[in-house]
Amino acid sequence: MELIRMVNVTKTYTVDGEEHHALNHFSYDFPSVGLFGIIGKSGSGKSTLLNMISLLDQPTSGDIYFNNENINKWRGKRKNQYRGKDMGIIFQHYHLIESESVLFNITLPFLISGGGDNKAKEKATSLLESIDFRKDLYHQKVCNLSGGEKERVAILRALINEPQFLLCDEPTGALDSKNSILMMDTLKKISQTRLVIVVSHNLSLIQRYADKIIEIKDGEIISIADPVLKKRKGKKNG
Ligand code: ADP
Ligand code: MG
Repeated sequence: MELIRMVNVTKTYTVDGEEHHALNHFSYDFPSVGLFGIIGKSGSGKSTLLNMISLLDQPTSGDIYFNNENINKWRGKRKNQYRGKDMGIIFQHYHLIESESVLFNITLPFLISGGGDNKAKEKATSLLESIDFRKDLYHQKVCNLSGGEKERVAILRALINEPQFLLCDEPTGALDSKNSILMMDTLKKISQTRLVIVVSHNLSLIQRYADKIIEIKDGEIISIADPVLKKRKGKKNG
């Protein structure tokens, strides 16, 4: 069954009196598990798509459903619950609190949603252990971490409230290739039990990891590819 259903979603911006469709009748059903790569040139509508799903912004027309509920009909409490608990988001520039520790950053969303201190630490520690994060860094300030470590802290922070899906905007944008692979390995693992939607410029990385690749141009889907089939085809052609 689909977790997120997008039906004819259009987002129109008017700049200097001219209408521009950042998303144009975008329809797609995302299931509840798997890694979905969104690719497309700069300005094609990738971030707009994530902004619609995350309720950072509203479509001009069309509908988005989460577990068959129209998310744009929600107000106040349900909206906050969706954004704080149902969904996890990883921003391109992490948005971590640099002057605070790894543990503090990861536990914060849990504490904000009313979780207790001890339980928060317990959950954060088990998440850190699950990705073999260096133990001597648990109490280190985030500003002292490498880019790859920050990225993984941002993933764990997005996971602490056990969301049903993760949204990632250019998660490997600031990472070297070794850390990008580590990052994608982590997301791949997560995608075995939940939906992960990753926006990326890095086509070769997405081809290696994604279960489906959705290519968009001018706010429209121009191709939907199955990278496994693509790889086979590539081999046959030499
Ligand atoms: P991408 O993430 O693929 O680079 P975006 O989703 O950010 O693309 O943008 C898609 C299009 O919508 C671009 O042409 C961009 O200029 C336009 N756009 C995005 N946000 C706004 C805005 N707030 N006002 C006007 N135009 C916007
Ligand atoms: Mg973008």
